[in-house]
Amino acid sequence: MAESAEKTTLIDCNLLVAKALARAGVDHMFGVVGIPVTSLANRSVALGVRFIAFHNEQSAGYAASAYGYLTGRPGILLTVSGPGCVHGLAGLSNAAANAWPMVMISGSCDQKDVGRGDFQELDQLAAVKPFVKFSVKAKHINEIPNSVFSVLDHSGSGRPGGCYLDIPADVLHQTLTESEATKLLDDAECNRITESVTNIPNDKIAKAISLIRKAERPLIVFGKGAALARAENEIKDLVEKTGIPFLPTPMGKGLLPDSHELAATAARSLAIGKCDVAVVVGARLNWLLHFGEPPKWSKDVKFILIDIDEGEIELRKPELGLVGDAKGIVKVLNKEIKDDPFCFGRSHPWIEAITNKVKENVSRMEGQLGKVVVPFNFLTPMRIIRDAIIGLGSPAPILVSEGANTMDVGRSVLVQMEPRTRLDAGTWGTMGVGLGYCIAAAVASPDRLVVAVEGDSGFGFSAMEVETLVRYQLPVVVIVFNNGGVYGGDRRNPEDITGPYKDDPAPTSFVPGAAYHLLIEAFGGKGYLVGNPDELKSALTESFSARKPAVINVTIDPYAGAESGRMQHKN
Ligand code: ADP
Repeated sequence: MAESAEKTTLIDCNLLVAKALARAGVDHMFGVVGIPVTSLANRSVALGVRFIAFHNEQSAGYAASAYGYLTGRPGILLTVSGPGCVHGLAGLSNAAANAWPMVMISGSCDQKDVGRGDFQELDQLAAVKPFVKFSVKAKHINEIPNSVFSVLDHSGSGRPGGCYLDIPADVLHQTLTESEATKLLDDAECNRITESVTNIPNDKIAKAISLIRKAERPLIVFGKGAALARAENEIKDLVEKTGIPFLPTPMGKGLLPDSHELAATAARSLAIGKCDVAVVVGARLNWLLHFGEPPKWSKDVKFILIDIDEGEIELRKPELGLVGDAKGIVKVLNKEIKDDPFCFGRSHPWIEAITNKVKENVSRMEGQLGKVVVPFNFLTPMRIIRDAIIGLGSPAPILVSEGANTMDVGRSVLVQMEPRTRLDAGTWGTMGVGLGYCIAAAVASPDRLVVAVEGDSGFGFSAMEVETLVRYQLPVVVIVFNNGGVYGGDRRNPEDITGPYKDDPAPTSFVPGAAYHLLIEAFGGKGYLVGNPDELKSALTESFSARKPAVINVTIDPYAGAESGRMQHKN
């Protein structure tokens, strides 16, 4: 085609969206196609954006949120209008709760039919409002490039979160010429938001160093904000240069290996209960960290909070707040310490107390784990899984974990040796994230195996996505702890089993002995049913080396766990 003809060739809005996404470096999109976004997905694929097609926008949304966390670039969810958008809110809200970068793009009904009861009509901007940092409706094809870049940039800037782009069906059908498209894309690119570098005033850095140096019982806590910042090397430096023990939050686990000699995870209560200065890097003092308050923390503890979000510092009112990117700030702290070094040696009473407590608790736990209990409790199969995962070495698999007892026990038993290798129910305690997270992890880190350890209840939320695993041949092994229900067997008091529906199964019960392993076989994946250590070991060996989609259905004693796991106090 002659050059001038090429410039006057008309392209439609679907292709323009795809061009904008590809130009912004988007490489994956998760979603469910249908009216009016199918062509948008196809056009994107043609431009090199991989589209992972799910059964339900909820799982696809969870995948997009986790992809944002794992890669540090917004994960993209594509949905149809109305109900598709509503299902996608699960992912968007999960991104907001966890502070992960994600963008939801939804088609919406024809603008001229708004308010007249159009097909799948919904005020989608109003629906997403509680869950987004920024949202925009592209009312004309000319607005597409700016809108696409804006949602991407807002979602990743400052504290990451979800953003939303609404594209009405009539806009998706509009056209313009190639040269108009290129000009719009070029202009929009010039207007992109660039993150400014924060400089922390010297006096604040000096105060931080002085607080740490003078502390008698210091502790370094880090969370998924530090993981997002990829601050692992800087935190390792800080820990090792100063000799201060550290405590990761559940998803901070792995930034430094759990086996590190200064890991205080196994002495958590002592570490947080007695520390006098806590440097908290990229972790909120929310419920997961007991709000930083007594009785779990000492009332006199001085917090140094390092967070990208100024609002977080204002909310928590720490002794000292350092606002900015964790990696940059910890690097500055390290530099200052290097000029005038200090180190809490192994024989320092605080370090000795932590180390002794860790040894004591680990040996008690290993005693429990060493027992072979069949029918399986939670500990026996978890220890076998731990050993199999450790046996894989590096690159370590990404562990996906959800469930009440399964996740609680897994958090203590399974070890993380590498950064960003743990995805769990997170800040919101969201159940149903498992399969979406597995799929995101597999495509974000193709060199790693993905191992999910899930309760049967958590698995059930998105079990149909095992077909997605098989369709894309993803290296994911899903291990289902099958205790026959939410928390396992029926634990109701006899006086609660009355009334006309008393013979119904308990609200916590599922079909006993459900054959979850057969679900994946329906699609050509591999299923295993295991009930004893030999069967479990053999299923793990085979599935880990095959690196193909598999479900291992582990029969667990229905009365082995506790109702609400470790959170009975909130029940
Ligand atoms: P966890 O669940 O691991 O405790 P949270 O999700 O509660 O972690 O907290 C993560 C914190 O990290 C949030 O307050 C967020 O603002 C912050 N954060 C996100 N990105 C960065 C970054 N690049 N540097 C510093 N802090 C960050």
